[in-house]
Amino acid sequence: MLSHRQLFFEHVAQTSTDPLALEIESAEGIYLYASDGKKYVDLVSGVSVSNVGHAHPEVVKAVQNQAAKHMHLMVYGEMIQSPQVRYAELLTSELAAQLNTVYYVNSGSEAIEGAMKLAKRATGRSGVVAFRNAYHGGTQGALSILGDEVLKNAFRPLLPGITHLNFNVPEELSKIDKTTACVVVEPVQAEAGIIVPDTSYMQQLRARCDEVGALLIFDEIQTGFGRTGKLFAHEHYDVVPDIMTIAKSMGGGMPIGAFVADKQLMNQLTYNPALGHITTFGGHPVSCAAALASLEIILRDELTQRANEVGDIFRQKMKHPRIKNVRGKGLFLAVDLDDVFIPDFMKYAAENGIIFDPFLFNSEAFRIAPPLIISNEQATEIAEKLLGLIDAFVNKHV
Ligand code: PMP
Repeated sequence: MLSHRQLFFEHVAQTSTDPLALEIESAEGIYLYASDGKKYVDLVSGVSVSNVGHAHPEVVKAVQNQAAKHMHLMVYGEMIQSPQVRYAELLTSELAAQLNTVYYVNSGSEAIEGAMKLAKRATGRSGVVAFRNAYHGGTQGALSILGDEVLKNAFRPLLPGITHLNFNVPEELSKIDKTTACVVVEPVQAEAGIIVPDTSYMQQLRARCDEVGALLIFDEIQTGFGRTGKLFAHEHYDVVPDIMTIAKSMGGGMPIGAFVADKQLMNQLTYNPALGHITTFGGHPVSCAAALASLEIILRDELTQRANEVGDIFRQKMKHPRIKNVRGKGLFLAVDLDDVFIPDFMKYAAENGIIFDPFLFNSEAFRIAPPLIISNEQATEIAEKLLGLIDAFVNKHV
């Protein structure tokens, strides 16, 4: 009989050439437990899973309760489903007045697709401006705006009319013009290695979009739900987008995404005469129930505040001759290492119980983005362990 590991390599498609291939049996809080009994710290959850931690009892209960009531009724938007309406009410009550209507989808990529379609439909324009070293998803439209030409070469032709700007460079904003339907931007660039722009830059970006009638789309898929120390990262700049995309931590571990805009703008997606954005499983009630529980926990337990406090602990502790810089906001941090091959360091850390995820566009830094429910004691212990691992790794590789 083949082992699970053999079956994994035999029959399950992989996206990396060298997967970690740990078999995780269960997960709780900030920890993952492997089938061989080994325990791992999850420093990746901000990228992929849940800001409220694994198997949060309230999220689990919400999922179980909703699954027992009903799972799926019809193509999205035809029926009133209580988890959808309750979530939309709570989410929009936390947002600026013009972000008042939620279009549910299944993933981050789909949220980006829907947001770009909405912008094209509303403006009657086709140009899209995005940024170098940005990542917005793997579907064809999202891939078209990927901020790296080589990585998307195999998939051309992609969407026409895409312009890429250097991030945080005000002089380039004049390239946004009257042919631009929308500008898609991460309020903190994630895969570029946690790049925080200047407040004045984000405000100039908003002003330029207003000047030429382009819609501003903020991709908060990685930065949302408290990760950067505000509920959404655009609050740091006092800039409100026309459309905001969310996913990842939105679902507390369940798959879901959405784009959020003003009601009048969103109405452009009604099917008349062109198709709107049809999605079968978007806003799945079980995912919405999980999203609702997760957002309630984030607000009640003040996890945005936790992100700031724990972020400060890591910033204070992560001091080492090989650490060049720690940057980011809240609990969304990048640690630059001098003369250390990050992929090898990540493997070494995994062998020693700490799981990272590499940045797509930066191989000189690692990311610290654990669940926001992490305690001060856990953060201190992990930071100390990381310093020890850097020491041991460097000594091993001299
Ligand atoms: N935008 C950003 C900023 C992301 O980090 C990601 C996922 N890494 C996406 C969009 C795409 O989300 P998904 O993988 O859910 O399609």
